[in-house]
Amino acid sequence: MKFRDRGLVNGAERCSGSPGDLSPVALVGSGLDGVITSWNRAATALLGWSAEAVIGKSLVDVLGCDARPRAVGHSGVSRFRTRVDSARGVALDVDLLVDGESYPVDPRGEYVVALVPVAAIAPAAEAGTSPPVDNWTHAAKIVRDIGGTVQCVAVGLVGVEAVNRGYSRSTGDAVLREITRRLECAVGNSGRVVRIGGNQFVAVTPVDAPLDAAQLVAQISHPVETRLGSIRIGCYVGSIIGDSASGLVVLDRADLAMRRALARGVGAIEFQSDIGHPMSSHHPRLDTLLIDAVARRAISVRFQPVIELCTGRILEFEALARWHSHELGDVDPNAFIGAAEVSGLIHDLGQIVLEKSLDVVQAENLAGRWCARRMSVNLSAVQLAHPDLSTRVLEALTSRGLDGDVLQLELTDTRPIADLRVATQQLGTLRRAGVRVALDDFGTGCTNMSYLRDLPVEVLKIDRRFIAGMCASSVDTAVIRSIIALATELQLDVIAEGVEDEDQHRALCRMGCFAAQGLLYASGRDQDDLYAAVGPPPRALGRRRSVPSR
Ligand code: C2E
Ligand code: MG
Ligand code: MG
Repeated sequence: MKFRDRGLVNGAERCSGSPGDLSPVALVGSGLDGVITSWNRAATALLGWSAEAVIGKSLVDVLGCDARPRAVGHSGVSRFRTRVDSARGVALDVDLLVDGESYPVDPRGEYVVALVPVAAIAPAAEAGTSPPVDNWTHAAKIVRDIGGTVQCVAVGLVGVEAVNRGYSRSTGDAVLREITRRLECAVGNSGRVVRIGGNQFVAVTPVDAPLDAAQLVAQISHPVETRLGSIRIGCYVGSIIGDSASGLVVLDRADLAMRRALARGVGAIEFQSDIGHPMSSHHPRLDTLLIDAVARRAISVRFQPVIELCTGRILEFEALARWHSHELGDVDPNAFIGAAEVSGLIHDLGQIVLEKSLDVVQAENLAGRWCARRMSVNLSAVQLAHPDLSTRVLEALTSRGLDGDVLQLELTDTRPIADLRVATQQLGTLRRAGVRVALDDFGTGCTNMSYLRDLPVEVLKIDRRFIAGMCASSVDTAVIRSIIALATELQLDVIAEGVEDEDQHRALCRMGCFAAQGLLYASGRDQDDLYAAVGPPPRALGRRRSVPSR
């Protein structure tokens, strides 16, 4: 492909102060006399020489080769392979690509040479161990040593483990050394590269010598030639700007940005400005803090009423886990539940929520106030794999003097059931003790139609995404209608989740939906205001009754 076709030579970049500076490709401009007239940032990153150091010098002196077009008007791209000395004292094999067509149309009589590093590992990197992993304290000191405002780019590598397994550990080491070398080339003399984890690097540069994250991804993704063949490594990158004085904070934020990039896949780049609340499931300390919170039973529970649509009375409460971390603040339940499912903490966390919810039922019962039919507690599919799940649930009920029918378990849709046979046994035992089983977020996620056949399900909860779209989308309305029809056919109860406005409420009533929950009626509550009034004035909703009753 011609450089001009790719817009790298002519046009906008030529018009900028530093021609080609936006290009990820190293570009060197020269006159017909072979004197260098321009040298872009990528060329500096590749070879270490600054533009000031090389402009005015002979192309042959700098690149070791006369890369001018063979004749004025020579068309097509010529390619020369040569070994070029870098400012770091390391020789690099590069392909010089010369666009012969640029000359006749370039009014300044210049042409441009692109330098493409040849995929090869330096001979010195053929043998040896992988680069040492630094601890974060040392990495933070390196950040501080650079001083001032810095750009910190955290790089996660994808595929190194596969190289270790599929080729050999020494090949993996060679790949890591080559990636380190490429990163070092990219940061130049003013920056530093630190390996902070097996597959994780941080490149730090002063902010006035910034790294181009996209170019870095391209450089790392370029195949690495090893003795066992050509290997391609993927990466994801988080880039932030910060004060080097707070080395650990800078590293932490770059690491967080990198983890957010990981969520978007290989090759993704996340910049500081894109970082939202630091409480995503990817926060590096979330797991550790959650272990501590679960050990201290510092998970609280809020109770959201579920109302009967035609009467407005409270039928049941859904128990919703809440975690306020001193370090992270209020953490999104989707984030910490997801993390707990991955780490296995969900078994203990779920038990805490169950016990705290049943404590409330017991206390309300004893005080003669309990007027709902049941308490609904979420159950992750991961919990179904615990051999003692049904025993623990039944013990929690009996130790509080409660019957099984005060409890409903909502099978959440975040994970598929690992072993349907075990799940069927566990839920069958619970069902026989009177516990009801609901399928949460029905119609989305991992919930599966076959669960209706295999599991003792009695309730379908319609996912709130359908409710949110029902007044605007005929598809959402059709899905809701179908779920209600399915529930009617199978003699199941149906509950709509996430009702936020009166139009949704009325539409659900018209469709014959039995029950609903949502901010229109009430958000999650503490035990103290369990029975506070529910929702907007009854007339607005066309209810027959509004007072909760037994
Ligand atoms: P879910 O079980 O579907 O819970 C309903 C979620 O919708 C809750 O979010 C609730 O606060 C929210 N919600 C209720 N009404 C409305 C509304 O009108 N509009 C909108 N936009 N949202 C509404 P929350 O508390 O953030 O929980 C999120 C999910 O976390 C739950 O979804 C459930 O899957 C999971 N979860 C929460 N607590 C537990 C638990 O104790 N164990 C397990 N395994 N999962 C839990
Ligand atoms: Mg639920
Ligand atoms: Mg739900």
